[in-house]
Amino acid sequence: MSKPFEVPQMTVRLFNTLTGELDPLVPIDGQALRMYACGPTVYDYGHIGNFRTFLQIDILRRFLLLTGTRVRHVMNITDVDDKIIRNAAALHMPIGEYTAQFERAFFEDLHFLGVQRPEIIARATEHIPRMVELIQELAEAGAAYQTEDGSWYFRLAAFPEYGKLSKKDLSGIEDGARVDLDEYEKDSARDFALWKAAKPGETFWDTPIGRGRPGWHIECSAMAMAYLGESIDLHAGGEDLMFPHHENEIAQSESVTHKPFSRSWMHVRFLLVDGRKMSKSEGNFFTLRDLLLKGYKASAIRLALVSVPYRHQLNFTFDGLTEATNAIERLRTFSQRLKQANLAPGANPALQEAAQKAQAEYMAALANDLNTAEARAPIFDLIRTANTAIDQGQLLAEDREAILAVLASFDAVYDVIEDRDAEPTRRALEWAEKAGRMEDVAQELLVRQSTTDEDIDALVAERTLAKRQRNFARADQIRNELAEKGVIIEDSKDGVRWKRK
Ligand code: AMP
Ligand code: ZN
Repeated sequence: MSKPFEVPQMTVRLFNTLTGELDPLVPIDGQALRMYACGPTVYDYGHIGNFRTFLQIDILRRFLLLTGTRVRHVMNITDVDDKIIRNAAALHMPIGEYTAQFERAFFEDLHFLGVQRPEIIARATEHIPRMVELIQELAEAGAAYQTEDGSWYFRLAAFPEYGKLSKKDLSGIEDGARVDLDEYEKDSARDFALWKAAKPGETFWDTPIGRGRPGWHIECSAMAMAYLGESIDLHAGGEDLMFPHHENEIAQSESVTHKPFSRSWMHVRFLLVDGRKMSKSEGNFFTLRDLLLKGYKASAIRLALVSVPYRHQLNFTFDGLTEATNAIERLRTFSQRLKQANLAPGANPALQEAAQKAQAEYMAALANDLNTAEARAPIFDLIRTANTAIDQGQLLAEDREAILAVLASFDAVYDVIEDRDAEPTRRALEWAEKAGRMEDVAQELLVRQSTTDEDIDALVAERTLAKRQRNFARADQIRNELAEKGVIIEDSKDGVRWKRK
C-alpha cells in the first residue's frame, strides 16, 4: 500500500474523566506520551467486552502514532488475585503455570484482533518488591496501617481528595471501615487492602512487611510509577475501573508523591448484551474464539467493536458483525479494484480534491475525541465517488496514488483492509480440536476450511474448459459448488478471478 499522506502534526483531544473536558493529549516531557492501561486478570479467556476496551485503546495508540506522537505504553498483567489462587489450587497447579496459559491466549487474541503490543508488559508477580516499598512509604506517610492478621490497608481518611475522579459523594467515609475484596460495592468507600496476609496453604511472598500478596490496586500504582514516573500523561481502562480501582490508584500514588498521578483519564464504555454489561458473572459473553468458530472473521470483530466511539456503550449483535463484514468486503474489493485498474496517466482535479477532503475529515473526526463512527463516513464516500469515476474512465493514475494514500492512513488506525483473517480462523480451529470444542464449529466454516487453494484452482480451470466447450450446465454446476464452499468467482476482461467470502 502507498505511504500515508505526510500527516501534519495534530493534537488529539480526548475526554478526560478527571476534568470532565476535552483536553489535548500531549506528552508533558515533549518526548513520548506516557500512558498506562490496566490489563487483564489472567484467570480465564477474555471476552469480547474486555477486548472492546483494549481495541479502543489501540485505536488511540495508532492515531497518536499516525499524527506524530510517540508513545510509551505500559500494560499490566494481573497474574495473582483471589480467583487465580483459588482456581490454581483446585487444579493442584502453581499459579504461574495456571496463569501462563491464559496470558498466552490473551496475547494471541490481541494479535488476531490486530491490537499492537504495548512497549512494556508488566506482570504483577514480577514487581512485588516495588509494591512492598510503596506500602512502606504509605505507612511512613500515615496512609497505611497493618491489622492483626498481618494485612495492610490504605487509610482513606488520610486522602481528603478521594472521589475526585469518579465525582462520587463519599462524605460518609467511615474511618477504619475495611474491605479486603478487590471488587466491592460501587457506592461505598472503605479502607481497602494493600497487602493481604497469607492464609494457611495459600501462595505467598516473604517480604519485609510480612508474608502475603499484594492487593490489586497497589499493583497498578507501583508499576505505572516504576516505568513511567510519578506523574504520567494518560491512564486508561474500562468504565468499571473508574471506581474504586482508579480512585484507589490515585489515592495510593498521590499520598506518597503529592503530585498528580495522571493528567488524563480515559474510560471506555461497556459492551452490552441486551442492555446488560457483557461479563463473566452474567454468563452473557462471547470469547473471540467463540465467534471465530461461528465463522466470523477477526477483522469484522475488530471493526464491529471499534466503530461505535469509545464514549458510547455498544450493544453487541450478530447483525453488527454482519454489517462490519460487509463494510470490510467493500473496502477490500475497492482497494483491489483500484490497484488493478488500467488507468491513463495524469490527475483529475475533482478526484484529487475528493481525496484531500476525505483525508482531512477522517483525521478531524479522530482528533475530536476519537470519533470512530464519523471517521469512517468520508472514507466510504470517497469509495463511492472513486468507483463511479472508474466506471466512467475518469480516474487517472495519480488519483489512484492519492486515494491509496487515504486508504493507507485509514488502515494505519482501523487495520482491516489488509486481509490477515486466515490465520486467526485456522488457529481457532486448531484450538477447538485440542480443547474438544469441535461441536461449536459452524458447518459452513468446516466446509470452507477444508477446501484448499489448489482445489479451487482446479475447479476454476475445469469451469473455464467447460465454458469453452459450451458445456454451460457443468460450468454453472461448478460455480454453485464453489459458492457452497464460500468461494466467489468473477469473470472479467482479464480472465477469471476468485476469492473466498
Ligand atoms: P478484567 O480482566 O476483568 O480486569 O478486565 C479487563 C478490562 O476489560 C478492564 O479494562 C475492564 O474494564 C474491561 N471490561 C470488562 N468488561 C467489559 C465490557 N463488558 N465492555 C468493555 N470493557 C470491559
Ligand atoms: Zn489498574
